[in-house]
Amino acid sequence: MEFHACYSLKSHNTFGFDVRTGLFAAVDTADELQALLSDARYHTMPRLVLGGGSNMVFCGDFDGLVIHPRMGGIEKQAEDAEEVYLRAGAGVVWDDFVACAVQHGWGGAENLSFIPGRVGASPVQNIGAYGVEAKAIIHQVECILTGTGERRIFSNAECAFGYRDSVFKHAWKDRAVVTHVVFRLRKRPVLQVHYSPLADELKNYPEHSLPAVRQAIIAIRRRKLPDPAETGNAGSFFKNPVVPKATAERLAAADPQLTLYPVNDASVKLPAGRLIELAGWKGRRVGNVGVHAQQALVLVHYGGGTGNEIMALAAAIRQSVYDRFGVQLEPEVNVIGYH
Ligand SMILES: Cc1cc2nc3c(=O)[nH]c(=O)nc-3n(C[C@H](O)[C@H](O)[C@H](O)COP(=O)(O)OP(=O)(O)OC[C@H]3O[C@@H](n4cnc5c(N)ncnc54)[C@H](O)[C@@H]3O)c2cc1C
Repeated sequence: MEFHACYSLKSHNTFGFDVRTGLFAAVDTADELQALLSDARYHTMPRLVLGGGSNMVFCGDFDGLVIHPRMGGIEKQAEDAEEVYLRAGAGVVWDDFVACAVQHGWGGAENLSFIPGRVGASPVQNIGAYGVEAKAIIHQVECILTGTGERRIFSNAECAFGYRDSVFKHAWKDRAVVTHVVFRLRKRPVLQVHYSPLADELKNYPEHSLPAVRQAIIAIRRRKLPDPAETGNAGSFFKNPVVPKATAERLAAADPQLTLYPVNDASVKLPAGRLIELAGWKGRRVGNVGVHAQQALVLVHYGGGTGNEIMALAAAIRQSVYDRFGVQLEPEVNVIGYH
């Protein structure tokens, strides 16, 4: 275990906000985590679990204990003729896990290539991209419960996955730390390439295969999204709103470029980025923060700014999208310390 007091989180959040935490504990094993959670000195402190910090907005210093799970390793837990079960530590870099799966020819994770962050956050967020969500490949989630220190395994059904949502954001919020995730992958991959930008990109590749899908997705993401190492950001700032079908049809009639994604007979998902663009925000800069010029759903930090500046920009965007379209945008990012 590595322990620091008054520790800078600047390199632990992809926005690059220069905030501090009272205490920072990097834990390498489930036993270390249990020991930390049972230590009475920390029982009254606010606690926050932090993976790669790629979905976080810190609006100020965190006056408490940040727990940074670093459990490593990817191991084969079981297999049969069709599937392989891989158990990965919460601290494994997500894209290393995807690369490992693709390298072995195991299918299911490839569309989630190049998403920043760690394995431990993948069930919390139910990460998704290019028509696939983590819930499709998550078999079990191993946790330590913060209240009792006991180990608990959540089945896929118990995780109650939704769009960028899970039980770990609701009933078990701040009460369960993910230590390992068991993924179920296919030995005979079924490629999911229906998403049109991916289908277009794959036209440049001689064959459709797991490595080709991975490479195509990495190429699109490199073109479209800012690299947090150069420009601070947390990916999509807002969720794509789900609205009644009639609302979506009314908006689409006014904007032929608005792509609609039917959710069911009554509801439709709208691309939040297009709404933000139509409201005139794409590429706009306000002080140290702004809206990315290629993808309006991504808010960026140019340096020297604060989480409060990002939240003020987000509030202005939400208001103008609501005024213009009557649609409420909800943040996808996790916001810490915003008043
Ligand atoms: C450039 C860029 C592109 C992105 N693209 C996508 C995308 O395509 N799809 C997508 O879904 N997301 C995307 N994201 C968002 C982000 O990468 C994901 O949400 C990722 O899963 C966050 O992982 P993390 O380890 O950084 O989590 P953090 O940001 O550290 O934490 C996220 C949440 O999970 C909780 N958490 C983290 N680890 C644990 C744990 N071990 N146990 C319990 N709770 C935990 C935290 O408390 C917090 O609430 C993108 C981000 C960036 C910067």
